[in-house]
Amino acid sequence: SSSRLDHLDKSGTVFAEMTTLANTHKAINLGQGFPTLPVPSFIRQAASDAVANECMGHQYTRSEGNPRLVNVLSKFYADKIGRVLNPLTEIITTVGATEAIYTSMQALVSPGDEVILMQPFYDSYPAAIELSGGKPVVVNLAPTRTPAESSADWKLDINELRRAVTKKTKAIFINNPHNPVGKVWTREELLEVGQVAQEFDLVVISDEVYETLVFSDSPEKMVKFACLPGMFERTITLGSIGKMFGVTGWKIGWCLGPADLIRSCWMIHQFNTFAVVTPLQEAAAASLEKAIETTYFADTVKTYQTHRDHLVSVLARNGLKPTIPHGGYFVMADTTGLKLPKSLTTTTSTRRDYRACHFMTTEIGVTAIPPSAFYERKVGAGGDVPGRHARFAFCKGLDLIDGAGERLDKYF
Ligand code: PMP
Ligand code: GLN
Repeated sequence: SSSRLDHLDKSGTVFAEMTTLANTHKAINLGQGFPTLPVPSFIRQAASDAVANECMGHQYTRSEGNPRLVNVLSKFYADKIGRVLNPLTEIITTVGATEAIYTSMQALVSPGDEVILMQPFYDSYPAAIELSGGKPVVVNLAPTRTPAESSADWKLDINELRRAVTKKTKAIFINNPHNPVGKVWTREELLEVGQVAQEFDLVVISDEVYETLVFSDSPEKMVKFACLPGMFERTITLGSIGKMFGVTGWKIGWCLGPADLIRSCWMIHQFNTFAVVTPLQEAAAASLEKAIETTYFADTVKTYQTHRDHLVSVLARNGLKPTIPHGGYFVMADTTGLKLPKSLTTTTSTRRDYRACHFMTTEIGVTAIPPSAFYERKVGAGGDVPGRHARFAFCKGLDLIDGAGERLDKYF
């Protein structure tokens, strides 16, 4: 195999690992972040209508993005970013945000360049950096008290970020709302990151796949990085239909930004996938056109908030102290109340959070994700933070969340 694989985890992604373990043990899977909620009929109808098309709807569409989809994305973002994006030059569609992450790294990073990440990070970021020949440089997004009460207690030390910049630094990743913490970044925090980007002339990759899921008790509304003063020109914003409409299997995402950066991304995209699946881009466009005209986003965020509150109370009453997330669909919970047999090991890691998540799956029947997967692999990364936590997803039916609650109640 290629030496490129040397940088990747041999056991595969933690999501596949924990879903397989959950299935094997018939555990309730609150690990991998895929919704189990019913998909609204207007979205399913849009997909059937697109597939019912007799001819051209089944052929390659425009490589940069299906025209109807890039047009409606431009419309959707106009007031959010504070400018009308040129749908032909400032947007490309990709195979999920995952391809957008990979594509942006291939487009920006030369071998030896450095890219700064905040840990915990989404696991695709370091992989995409390494696959482009770059070097991930990690800074901490850490709880400022133990246990943290809400995701706002998790903070970045801006001086640590500033110190991480070297002559080789090319870009910074930021994730808002944040997976796995649920943090919705304040305007002030984002402005500080922007100041560092400006000072050292860095590109910012702003992964905003959960942008439509910001809860009513969040102290901060969603602030798109690209709309901060002077930031549009240096920001690539990533988004995903999978998150927007709860259809992760559709695998449609995008990169938005200034024409020069977007063109560089497209140069990679054209030879990687060429274009994204036509019927589902049509369906995504039709769904977004409809969603803009209705209360879909407001209704969805209310539903998710109910599910969040359910999960938070299930965890809290069992002593798994939850950090209340202000956005996204995950909860970080402090599991140190769970006493683990010393002899317990797992096939993939001996770290405490892996042992805890395996134990919960096999002995309690509830699966969560060990956050060490979102930290550097070196010993001691993130201090004791990853080891004491587990990430639970609430994009799941209330029956599953309550079922998990019953199993936890019985155990504790
Ligand atoms: N970024 C983050 C923060 C995510 O959580 C995910 C997946 N859940 C992605 C990107 C990838 O999105 P997609 O499924 O559209 O590839
Ligand atoms: N993004 C999803 C999560 O955080 C999982 C994506 C995947 O399975 N690759 O759970």
